[in-house]
Amino acid sequence: MRQSPLVVVANRLPIDDSVAPDGACEWRRSPGGLVSALHPLLRHTPATWVGWAGGTGPAPHLPEVDGVRMHTVPLTAEDLRDHYEGFANATLWPLYHDAVEQPEYHRRWWDAYQRVNQRFAEAAAEVAEPGALVWVQDYHLQLVPGLLRALRPDLRIGFFLHAPFPPPELFMQLPRRVELLRGMLGADLIGFQRPQAAHNFAQLVTKVLGLPATDRRIGVGGRVVRIGAFPVSIDTAEMAALAARPEVADRARRLRRDLGNPEHVILSVDRMDYTKGIEQRLKAYSELLASGDVKVRDTVLIQVAVPSRERVGQYQILRERVEREVGRINGEFGRVGEPAIHYLTQTFDRAELAALYRIADVMAVTPLRDGMNLVAKEYVAARVDDTGALLLSEFAGAATELSQAFLVNPHDLEGLKQELLAALRAAPADVAARMRAMRKHLHRNDIHAWARSYLSALDESGSLLTRLA
Ligand code: UDP
Repeated sequence: MRQSPLVVVANRLPIDDSVAPDGACEWRRSPGGLVSALHPLLRHTPATWVGWAGGTGPAPHLPEVDGVRMHTVPLTAEDLRDHYEGFANATLWPLYHDAVEQPEYHRRWWDAYQRVNQRFAEAAAEVAEPGALVWVQDYHLQLVPGLLRALRPDLRIGFFLHAPFPPPELFMQLPRRVELLRGMLGADLIGFQRPQAAHNFAQLVTKVLGLPATDRRIGVGGRVVRIGAFPVSIDTAEMAALAARPEVADRARRLRRDLGNPEHVILSVDRMDYTKGIEQRLKAYSELLASGDVKVRDTVLIQVAVPSRERVGQYQILRERVEREVGRINGEFGRVGEPAIHYLTQTFDRAELAALYRIADVMAVTPLRDGMNLVAKEYVAARVDDTGALLLSEFAGAATELSQAFLVNPHDLEGLKQELLAALRAAPADVAARMRAMRKHLHRNDIHAWARSYLSALDESGSLLTRLA
C-alpha cells in the first residue's frame, strides 16, 4: 500500500463514472467545490482521497483519477440505509438544522454509524504516511478523528463540519452526544462555517464533558484542540469567467426571450430539502401575487429544486407538498403560456446554471438554516457587471460574509414579502454598490484561500506546506 503525506477523508470520492466511447466504464473528477479547492494541492503531493465510490457492490479499484490517488471504502445496502440515510441524514442533519424536521433516534442507526466510521478510520490509517496530515470532512464521519487517533497517534488530524453546528439545547437531545463530541475531539483542529458554531461547540464540551474551553482552544487531557471558523467558498474567478463566456451570454439572452422578456426574473436554486425554506418562499410569492404587488405579466419566478435523498421519508413528503403548492399557484395565477412559477427538478450543469444566474434580477436564497449556501456565492460571482440583487436568509452561513445582501428572516412571512419587494424595486445604484462589495469579498475569500487557511492552521509546524511550496 502506497502511503501519502496528505489524506482527505470524505463520505464520497470526488468522482463520477461515465461510459467511454468504447463502452468501458470511465471515472472522471466530479465538479464539486471541495475537490476543486484541494485539487491543485492534491496533485502536487502524492495525496490520497479516502471515500465511498457509490453503489453497494464490490469497491472498484481506482488507483488514480486526474492525478489524485483514490482509496475506496465499500458500503453495503444496510450501511447505506442505517448510516447514510439513517444516522447521518435523518438524525444529525435535521438536528443540526434547528430540528425543523424531527430528528429520529434509532439504536440500529448508531451501530451502523460507528461501524462505518471505523471502516473509514482504518482506511485512512492504512494510506497515511508517518506524521501525515489527515483532513476529515463533515457530519457523516464525526467519529473518525477519535478512532483514527487511537490507531495512529502520530498523525495531524483535522476535521471540518460543512453543516451548521447547533446550539447546546438542541445537541443535548442526541442520545450519543458524549461519543459524538469525543469523536470530534480526536482532531487537532476543528473547523466550522461560522464563529457561532465554534462557540456552540465550546459551550457543549464544557457542559457535557466538563472540559476547559474557549471559542479557540479546548484542553483535552494533555492535548490542546484548536477550533475556529473557516467559511467555505467557491472558485470565484472560475464562475466569473464562465458567466462572461459568449456562449453563456447567448444562452442567457435566449432564456430571457423564451420567458417572454419579463421585466423581472426571480431565481431560486435549491436541493429539494426541508432546510431550504422552499415552502415559506412559495407562500410569500403566492401572497404577493394575490395582493397584486407582483404580477405574472411582468415577473417570473424560476424555482430549480434538485431531488435529493429520495429514500428518506421526510424528503418524499416535502416533494409532494412543494409540487402541490406549485400546481396550486400556477393554477390560480398563471395564464396560458405564462406560468407564475417555472418549476424544474433537473440537475443543471455549471454553464446552464451560470446562464440562469445571469438572467436573475433577484436571486432568492432563503433557507431556514444552511451551513454556508454556495449558490448564493455563485450568483454573486456570476454578476460580473455588478447588477442583480441577492435576497439572503440570515440563517445561511453566507450571511456572515455577504452582509450587503437583502437579508431576511425566512420564518417572518411579512418580512420575506417586504424584502423581496425591496430587492425587486431597489435603485440600480444601490444594487450595484451592494454587488460590488460582495464580489470583492468573494474574490479575496475564494475556495483556494479557504483550503490554504485551513491547512496552514492544521499544519502548525509548516512542514507539509513548505514541502509543497
Ligand atoms: N448545483 C448544480 N446543479 C444544479 C443545482 C445546483 O450543480 O442544478 C450545485 C450548485 O452550483 C452548488 C451546489 O450544487 O455548487 C449546491 O451547494 P449549496 O451549498 O448551495 O447547497 P447544498 O446542496 O450543499 O445544501
